[in-house]
Amino acid sequence: MGYLEGFAVTFNKLFEERVTGEYKAKGEGEKRDKPERFHGRHVLNRYEDGMEKCIGCELCAGVCPARCIYVRGADNQPENPVSPGERYGYVYEINYLRCIHCDLCVEACPTQAITESKLFEFSFTNRQDAIYTKDELVVGDDGMPQKLPWEDWREGDDALTSGWMRATSPGGSAAYQNTVAWSGELGYGVRAPEQGQAADAAPTDVEAADVDAADADGHDSHGHDSTGGGH
Ligand code: SF4
Ligand code: SF4
Repeated sequence: MGYLEGFAVTFNKLFEERVTGEYKAKGEGEKRDKPERFHGRHVLNRYEDGMEKCIGCELCAGVCPARCIYVRGADNQPENPVSPGERYGYVYEINYLRCIHCDLCVEACPTQAITESKLFEFSFTNRQDAIYTKDELVVGDDGMPQKLPWEDWREGDDALTSGWMRATSPGGSAAYQNTVAWSGELGYGVRAPEQGQAADAAPTDVEAADVDAADADGHDSHGHDSTGGGH
């Protein structure tokens, strides 16, 4: 194909139907609504008393397929602990040039320390700025994400954090033993319960039995099909 034929192909493409959608779908300055479980910039959560939830166990770093988390744990000083328990996250970094926002780190975390907000509009001019440190990731005193100067937070981006799969008995509650369910409370904000899941933290024996029965026949107590996997 010669130059002229090549230019003709390009010119004709100008009149073909676009295959990409408009980014600003709701009007000037308004972005499309994001799904409830949108995976964006991470946050490191704290308990209500200000203690950090991260215990420096490095499970998130171990499970990360992009190898973009770097954690170093350190022993808590008994007179001035940073987190409950023996250790805390002394160094915590995420390289956003590599993160694919798969949320596996969130699912691996045993303390719900790391979750993802819905913020994805942040850019950098050098590699160092793309590596978020613990100082930037940890939530503020109000329990909400820090809104850093180069980030474009929109309404609802911090409303709920990403999903977290509860595969073990939380808080030692025997009622949850062998029950896999979504947590109703995730970092900050309380999410509506999943189908077949009670809103309160621990199901009653009746509800637990209900879930077990649903698992057994693939339907929950309300007649919904519960075999469809995550939402
Ligand atoms: S979301 Fe996925 S890629 Fe990003 S830090 Fe977590 S595990 Fe790694
Ligand atoms: S964020 Fe969670 S999984 Fe990662 S080091 Fe801290 S406690 Fe462990």
